[in-house]
Amino acid sequence: MSSRRKIILKELGLLPLWRIKSENLQNTIVSADSSRQEDQCEKRPASDISNNTRRQQILHMDWDQLKAEVAHCTACALSQSRTQAVFGIGDENADWLCVGEGPGAREDVTGEPFVGPAGKLLDNMLSAIGLQRGNNVYIANIVKCRPPNNRNPEVHETMQCEPFLARQIELIKPKIIIALGKIAAQNLVKCDDKISNLRGTLHHYSGIPLIVTYHPAYLLRALPDKAKAWEDLLFAKDIMRSIK
Ligand code: SF4
Repeated sequence: MSSRRKIILKELGLLPLWRIKSENLQNTIVSADSSRQEDQCEKRPASDISNNTRRQQILHMDWDQLKAEVAHCTACALSQSRTQAVFGIGDENADWLCVGEGPGAREDVTGEPFVGPAGKLLDNMLSAIGLQRGNNVYIANIVKCRPPNNRNPEVHETMQCEPFLARQIELIKPKIIIALGKIAAQNLVKCDDKISNLRGTLHHYSGIPLIVTYHPAYLLRALPDKAKAWEDLLFAKDIMRSIK
């Protein structure tokens, strides 16, 4: 292990678990491969929005059109309380796409996803697997506008915002998607199962491999689960290695 990786893992509080978790990871991958229990959860029914005119228009937009549309969007009530929409940031040709839930207070002010302590932890998590924000990584959210008081976005809001992320994914063409937290996982996997059940399994979004892990903001409050997040990142890295 490189000294830089040791430093990062130590900062994450993961270093003593490195070997054990690597072994567990192998078991996880073998389990996922051998059982082929991908996407076992009960899928949400397709929404009415899937064929509407607005969605079709968004799915034909280029980057500039999409950014302008998001910036001026009033399709749900979150537009009324936002400072600004938070579109997403990073390499628009990235192999890795990280998707969170929605902007928080800092993101609402800065216009950038994952800033502050949770953003720093996400950056450290990415560094631990040799990645860097903006370099072959794109970061976006399920909803582009901040839910008041950091509440979870409501179903109507995620449905209205869904075409924007769908188009971002079509334009980026990532090789792997990492869903950060329950809201991102449930919306991308289209399943209302618990995050503990969605982790550790290879899912797909429009044919793109998708893995689920905890949201960095949650990990700041639940230190023991950092080790599970590290397992998830190694799982993602192994999946990426297998498709390159
Ligand atoms: Fe539009 Fe999404 Fe913002 Fe709602 S959250 S106003 S759908 S950009």
